[in-house]
Parts: sequence; structure tokens; C-alpha cells
Amino acid sequence: MTYIITSLCLRDGGCIDVCPVECIVPGQPVEEWPWMYIDPDTCIDCGACVPECPYDAIFSEDEVPEAYEAKGGEYISRLGLSGHYENTDHHGDTVVLETTKQLEAGEVVDLTEDTQPNYDFFESGPGYDALG
Ligand code: SF4
Ligand code: SF4
Repeated sequence: MTYIITSLCLRDGGCIDVCPVECIVPGQPVEEWPWMYIDPDTCIDCGACVPECPYDAIFSEDEVPEAYEAKGGEYISRLGLSGHYENTDHHGDTVVLETTKQLEAGEVVDLTEDTQPNYDFFESGPGYDALG
């Protein structure tokens, strides 16, 4: 198993600092890989990254919600969306995303759609090159 970062990720970066096996990689280019990705072959399922995420974007793979109910005001960031998002991350650096949408309270989103991109990133995407 592994932990999965979903499209609730807004590239805050706090999770990267606490991962004991350094298996969380920022997606690049950001227009194609909008969030951070966890290498499923390296993740040791320790769960240390989960409480670090200010957007509650990280789940154990078998707990990624099929029907995530929005609290209202949070963003998702996915290819195909066109909303602008700008903020500072964990280290005070600027984050700009053009692939977002702000959710309304009660809106339901299937976050299991975000699981496969995490595998793709390392099997055929930039993560494959990054890890060799
Ligand atoms: S802490 Fe959350 S928002 Fe930040 S990079 Fe990690 S998963 Fe994304
Ligand atoms: S569960 Fe642990 S090993 Fe896996 S990505 Fe999170 S901090 Fe890293």
C-alpha cells in the first residue's frame, strides 16, 4: 500500500519536510502535474505526512474518499480546471496554480480519481526520470 496525495493539495510543501524516506516529489511542470506525488514503492506508510498538510489532502490509499463532501471554500487543483490560485507555501515562497476550482459547501468530489496520477507520475511521468 501507499499514501496518496489528492487534488486538495495546493503545494504547501510541509509534507516533504517530514517524510522520513523522502518519497514526496513536487510535480513538474506544474501545468501538467499540479500537486505533489508520493512514490508508492518507497513510502513506508508511516502516516507522518498526514497531519502536516494544512489542506487535509493526504490519505492512506484505501481511505481516499469516493465522495468527499466540501466544507466550502477549499480548492481542488486538477488538469482541465482553469481557476487561478495564489498563496505562499510552508517556506514563504509564492505558489501560483492555474488549474484550480474553489468548492462550495456540500459539493461532492470523487477524490479516488486522483490515485492513478500518483502511479503514473512515477511509472511514466517525470517521477520516473527523477528516480531513475
Ligand atoms: S502538505 Fe498538503 S498541500 Fe502541502 S504539498 Fe503536502 S499534500 Fe500538498
Ligand atoms: S506515509 Fe510516511 S513514508 Fe509515506 S509519504 Fe507520508 S511521510 Fe512519507
